[in-house]
Amino acid sequence: MLWSKLFIPTLREVPAEAEVASHQLLLRAGYIRQLSAGIYTFLYLAQRSLKKIQTIVRQEMDAMGAQEISCPALNPAEVWQESGRWDVMGDNLFRFKDRFGRDMCLAMTHEEVITVTARGELRSYKQLPQVWYQLQTKFRDEPRPKSGLLRVREFMMKDSYSFDMDQAGLDAVYDKHYKTYCRIFDRCGLEYTAVDAHSGAMGGSQSHEFMVASDAGEDFVARCPGCGYSANLEKAISIPAAPAADDPAGDLTPEEFPTPGQKTIAELAAFTGLPETSQMKSLVVVADGKPALILVRGDHQLSETKAGAILNDPEFRPARPDEIRQWFGADAGSLGPVAVKDVPIFADRALVGRRNMIAGANKNDAHLRHVTLGEDFQAELHDVRQVVAGDACTRCGAKLEVIKCVEIAHIFKLGYKYSEPMGLRVLNAEGKEVTPIMGSYGIGIGRILSGVIELHHDKDGMILPPSIAPFEVVVTPANNADAAQMDTARAIYEECLGLGIDALLDDRDERPGVKFKDADLIGVPFRVVVGKKLAQGLVELVERKTRTAADVASAEAPRAVLARLGR
Ligand SMILES: [Zn+2]
Repeated sequence: MLWSKLFIPTLREVPAEAEVASHQLLLRAGYIRQLSAGIYTFLYLAQRSLKKIQTIVRQEMDAMGAQEISCPALNPAEVWQESGRWDVMGDNLFRFKDRFGRDMCLAMTHEEVITVTARGELRSYKQLPQVWYQLQTKFRDEPRPKSGLLRVREFMMKDSYSFDMDQAGLDAVYDKHYKTYCRIFDRCGLEYTAVDAHSGAMGGSQSHEFMVASDAGEDFVARCPGCGYSANLEKAISIPAAPAADDPAGDLTPEEFPTPGQKTIAELAAFTGLPETSQMKSLVVVADGKPALILVRGDHQLSETKAGAILNDPEFRPARPDEIRQWFGADAGSLGPVAVKDVPIFADRALVGRRNMIAGANKNDAHLRHVTLGEDFQAELHDVRQVVAGDACTRCGAKLEVIKCVEIAHIFKLGYKYSEPMGLRVLNAEGKEVTPIMGSYGIGIGRILSGVIELHHDKDGMILPPSIAPFEVVVTPANNADAAQMDTARAIYEECLGLGIDALLDDRDERPGVKFKDADLIGVPFRVVVGKKLAQGLVELVERKTRTAADVASAEAPRAVLARLGR
C-alpha cells in the first residue's frame, strides 16, 4: 500500500481523555476513534491488525478440530429466561423491546443460544464430541467503560462451546483449548500467565483466566516467583504473614474497655497501641435474606468470592446499618463474636491458634480484649481472606507477589449447568437418554491487541510483533525529490510484495523525521530507509524493537527483511 493514499490520522499530542498506554497509542497512531463511551470505530490500521489476530485464532481453532459457526447477536429473552441468566446478568445485559413489545437483548455470551441450537439438533452419542466456535460481536453495558479497547460495550470475541458424553471428554477438550490458547498468544507475541480462576456468572467446576500483567488492568493475580503458582486474587491461597505482635499468653477472660469514637481497625490500633494483626475484624453480611457474621484478622480483607462460596450465595451483600443495629444492638465499628446468638459465625483460618485478641463488644464505643476463638465463642472455620503480597506460598514457601492484570481470555468447565436445565439430551450406546457435558471458552480479540501494546511500547509508539502489526515493513525514501531514491524505494517495496511481505511504501511528501516518527508510532517492526547512502548502493534496515540499524545492499534489502521476519 502507498501511505500517501491511506487514511492514517496520527496525532502528535497525547489525547487528554486517554489514561492507559494502549488507549493513548491507539488514538495517537490513528488506529481507533471513539464514537461514544466504550464504543469505537476501528480505522484501517486497527482493522488490519485485528484481522491478523483473527486469522491466527481461526488457524489454531481449526487445527484443534473446532468448527466455525456464527450465532446471532440479537436474542429473544426466552432463551436467557430458560437458563435463569435474564435475571442474573442484571444491568450488564443490553435489553429492549421489539415492535410487538417482546423482550429482547444483545448477547454478551452465547451459552444459551448454543445450548438451544444443540438441543434441537443433537440426537445421539455418535454425534459427540462437538466443538463449535465463532468470531462475533458481543455487547455488554459496562458501568465504567474506559481504557480504550480494554473495557468496552461492544467487542469482538472468539467464543467456543464443547459438548461431550462424559467428564473425561470435557477434560480433554478443555486441555486442548488451554494449549490452543497458549499457541495463539505465543503467535501474537503476548506474554501471559494462566491462572486458576473463579467461574463467576458462567458457573461450572473449573476455570482458568489468561492474564497479561498491566497497570491498566482491574484484576489482581497472586503469583509465586518460587514455583510458578498463580491464581486470581479472589481465589488465591497462602500462608498468612505472622502477626506483628505476640498475643498475650494465658487463659484470660474477655474484658470490656471503653473505646470512644474508635471505629476503624486503624483507629483502634492507634488507640490501643497494638497492631492491626491483634484485632478481629467483624463483617456482617446478608446471605439468602439471613444475617451472618464473618471474622478476619484486622489487617486482612474478605475475599467476596470465597465468602460467596461458603455462604452458598454469591449474591450476598453487606448488612445495612439498621439491620446491624437490630441484630447486634450496636453499630459497625463495635461489633464482635462474643455472646452472639442466632447469627452463624464464620472465622478465617488465620485466627486459628491465636489467643486474647481484640474484638468489638456489640456495644457502641466499647471493645473486648482477651477474646479467643474456640473458647470465648465458636465459629465455622474457612479460608475467607484475600491473599496479600508477602504471604508465603502454600506449595514452596516463597513470598507471593500480587500483580495487576488484564484478562485476555477465560475458559470454563460448565459441566451440566446449561445442558441439564435447558433439556439437552442425547441417546447413549444403550439407547438411554443422557445429558451431554459442556465447556465454554472465550478470547477478547481487541484485548489481545491492547495487551500487546500495553506490554510492548515506548515513548515513541507501539512495538508490535510482525505477526499482528498492520504492516511488516515500511520502505521510506528519505527525499521524494531524489528520483534515484524514489525509484529504488519503489523497487524494494514491489519486490517485498512479491516475496509475500506485507509492505508499505511511505511515499508521502514529508520530511524524513516526520516519516520516521509516524512509522515508529504505528509500530511497524522493520523500516528500510533509502537515503544518501544509496550513492554507495546501500540502504538502511532498522528494527523498531531494538532500534538497531544495519546497512545492506539495496538489491539485497527485500531478502534481508524476509530473513529478519524468519521466513
Ligand atoms: Zn511457590
